[in-house]
Amino acid sequence: AAERSLHHIVIVGHVDHGKSSLIGRLLHDTNSLPPGKVEELEAISARRGMEIEWSFVLDAFQAERDQAVTIDTTQIWFNTALRDYVIIDAPGHREFLKNMVSGAASADAAIMVVDAEEGVREQSRRHAYLLHLLGVRQIAVVINKMDLVDFSQARFDEVSRQITEYLQSIGAAPMVIVPISARGGDNIASRSDRSPWYDGPTVISALDGFHGHPGIGSQPLRLPIQDVYKFDARRILAGRIESGSLTIGDTLLFSPSNKTARIRSIEAWPDNNAPETAAAGESVGITLDEQLFVERGELVSHVENPPKLSTLFHARLFWLGHNPLKVGARYKLKLLTQEAEVTVKSIERIIDTQTLENSDGDSVERNAVAEVTLHSRMVLGLDDYGDLPRTGRFVLIEDYDTVGGGVISMEGLPDQRQA
Ligand code: GDP
Repeated sequence: AAERSLHHIVIVGHVDHGKSSLIGRLLHDTNSLPPGKVEELEAISARRGMEIEWSFVLDAFQAERDQAVTIDTTQIWFNTALRDYVIIDAPGHREFLKNMVSGAASADAAIMVVDAEEGVREQSRRHAYLLHLLGVRQIAVVINKMDLVDFSQARFDEVSRQITEYLQSIGAAPMVIVPISARGGDNIASRSDRSPWYDGPTVISALDGFHGHPGIGSQPLRLPIQDVYKFDARRILAGRIESGSLTIGDTLLFSPSNKTARIRSIEAWPDNNAPETAAAGESVGITLDEQLFVERGELVSHVENPPKLSTLFHARLFWLGHNPLKVGARYKLKLLTQEAEVTVKSIERIIDTQTLENSDGDSVERNAVAEVTLHSRMVLGLDDYGDLPRTGRFVLIEDYDTVGGGVISMEGLPDQRQA
């Protein structure tokens, strides 16, 4: 049998447009709810004098998660006949935007929920902008609550036009737009006879039609070092391969230290076998043929295709801080497993995500996007987001709080690596 693939999706949209309800429905309609859950839901809903309220599924998960001590506290799973899906983070979660920019949410695809009655709203635009900024290119739009507009094709066309116009104006495009009712289960796993005029895919078939991360295994090797373990005389460098692959005997280059060494052995978790080779998505430990002093934060590549070394980089970032971002201000940069202090050298452009107007200025308000140049005292190993989306992302921290995140551009900047 063909191997089942795992896909990460993110569900975005304005508050109350139906993200949680859609998740409840997706879980139910793909038989991914634990036994007894629906009855439990019906009972809770009935006590509150409601018909079954699908968004309660998420509340129930939330309650379980609050008690759980596992690491994957924000992930919900479902599967279709074809694939396994993980929904990254819960909508409405207060850390939602932060998780999105932090790249923990490196989604293969997104579902954007828009209320048929309300149409495109502020958060619809903001989330769409952020998806595009972060490089999520596979977007399914669902126009939800079609029951409230009597499954009117004219209203569906009108809201479809609103969201398509916005997406096109930022250089994105919906791949599919589906009229649904999360409450009624229309066009989610099966076609609804309430929308006879619609002949496109259901939500599930739209998802199943999206492709996975195209080709990250064949991109240049990037392995950010997460930890260094010392066993007797041995040192094991551990991390998750973000792109490319490595093989025993390969010569590795470490950035920013610019040291090189060859791989003596590979250990892969969780199986604990000793493979000859390992690829993107796998967590590995490697030992080297010589004793190098390297620490967490180094970025491993092959010698032929390294990141640039630079103290300066351009960025397009989404600002989440309560205080505005200012020229001259200092933040903590988190770049993969590396941390460094950076200063805002200049702000080239500020973009309003609602009106898409551009402006100049020396400070950036919360929820705006800006093109900036950042300076680090320490040399960093940097990838241009256009070349390597997995490693070309970063977040900014101020007082332990994520205040911004975005993507790196090295255009026009020299490589400071010493030959
Ligand atoms: P979220 O904030 O985007 O997660 O939205 P919720 O899933 O919590 O839904 C917000 C409200 O819209 C709740 O009262 C839902 O019952 C309601 N709702 C969700 N989907 C539908 C739908 O398809 N039809 C109708 N009439 N109401 C819906």
